[in-house]
Amino acid sequence: MDVDPFDIPSRKETRRKPFRPRCKICRTNKYVVPIVYSIEITEEILEKERAKEIRIGGNARSVDAPNWYCRRCGEEFQR
Ligand SMILES: [Zn+2]
Repeated sequence: MDVDPFDIPSRKETRRKPFRPRCKICRTNKYVVPIVYSIEITEEILEKERAKEIRIGGNARSVDAPNWYCRRCGEEFQR
């Protein structure tokens, strides 16, 4: 890959919308939140779950564990 050292990545980041895959049941990503697997549940994580920005998936993370959750359908899926 050709990397340009003068291409500042942070400028690209501001333009990019946070990516969310679509739920295959309701076919929208409106209710899709990332599932967070963390050994340590911090106040920040709890705050985000309260705000329904994420879902806490516990600490049993396996290779094929789902990483997205649709709050509308209750569907967990992997992208
Ligand atoms: Zn859905």
